[in-house]
Amino acid sequence: MHFKEITVCVDMYGCPNRCKHCWLGTTPNGSMAVSELEAVAERFRPFTDCLQVYDWYREPDYRDNYRELFALCNKLSDTPVQHYELASFWRLVRDREYAPWLSSLGLEQVQLTIFGDEKTTDFYIGRKGAYREILEAIEILIENRISPRIQTFVNKDNIHELEHTENLIRGLALEERCRFFGGRFSFFLHQGSCDGENEKLYDVRVTPEDLAKVPVLLEAYTLKHFGKHSLTEVFGNTEAALYEELAEDSSTASYVSDSPVFYVDKDFHVYPNISAPVSHWRLGNLKTDGAEAVLENYRGSKSAAQQIRLTVPLGQIVKAEGSRESRRLFSRGDYIEFLLNRYCRTGCAL
Ligand code: SF4
Repeated sequence: MHFKEITVCVDMYGCPNRCKHCWLGTTPNGSMAVSELEAVAERFRPFTDCLQVYDWYREPDYRDNYRELFALCNKLSDTPVQHYELASFWRLVRDREYAPWLSSLGLEQVQLTIFGDEKTTDFYIGRKGAYREILEAIEILIENRISPRIQTFVNKDNIHELEHTENLIRGLALEERCRFFGGRFSFFLHQGSCDGENEKLYDVRVTPEDLAKVPVLLEAYTLKHFGKHSLTEVFGNTEAALYEELAEDSSTASYVSDSPVFYVDKDFHVYPNISAPVSHWRLGNLKTDGAEAVLENYRGSKSAAQQIRLTVPLGQIVKAEGSRESRRLFSRGDYIEFLLNRYCRTGCAL
């Protein structure tokens, strides 16, 4: 059993937030020992010549030993690990050494998520004070010559608050201030995939007429970010159109790759990073089953979700779980995974 590359992301400490759009779900936080990260790496090591190890898959840098963990991940990995533009705004406002450290890694942008005004943002992030922390984090990032990149998840309940977001961007002169130090402010909005916590927002998922509520400036930023020509391209098709397109589709699909990414939760359960890490995607437990069994299950598409997608014609899943009347907007891939997750939870599961 050998893979070209394996990436392992370990949910060592969880996340301080409980976002209502979180596709990873809002499971309890863990507190894993540093030695356990080393042990996870050791278990996957024999199965690839190119291992990548990350100490998080929810909130990066959540614990005080974030620098030690970043160094350790690099030591355990065969090529340098990326920090990406994801950082902890929780830490940004509590640890004044954090932003300079991010800057020292060469990070030029950090993504922050707002949902509208203070009350709405606190509600969707699931923590009172989150909005104020984000505003403070924006200032700290700019002081450290890191450009904020603001993302907004929209649904029928908060799309009317985009004007607030537009006023915030203009009022804080974010574009001009980033340009001043040679940075680049960016913004984008979308509806997110429909799995994990975000699946609970299915009823208020945006429909085509909602797109007219997007202010021109935010539309322009969004199209630039995604490299698209219209919001329809960003938001996808209605569920009814996708149902029509896919209902007679007899194809099946494999999620197996020679360069898989795995999520390892605090209890050492392993999932492929395709959709929410929930039981029907589970490949096994690293401690009790071992890495070889987990990888065999992955390669053999043995998690319930992989097995169903590999053996059940897509049209059957669509007819069982889709709605031919719904005007909610989805990308094709997100729609298939949304229905697959539903199918796995109903009596149709193997
Ligand atoms: S979306 Fe990110 S910050 Fe929010 S709960 Fe999920 S992992 Fe945490």
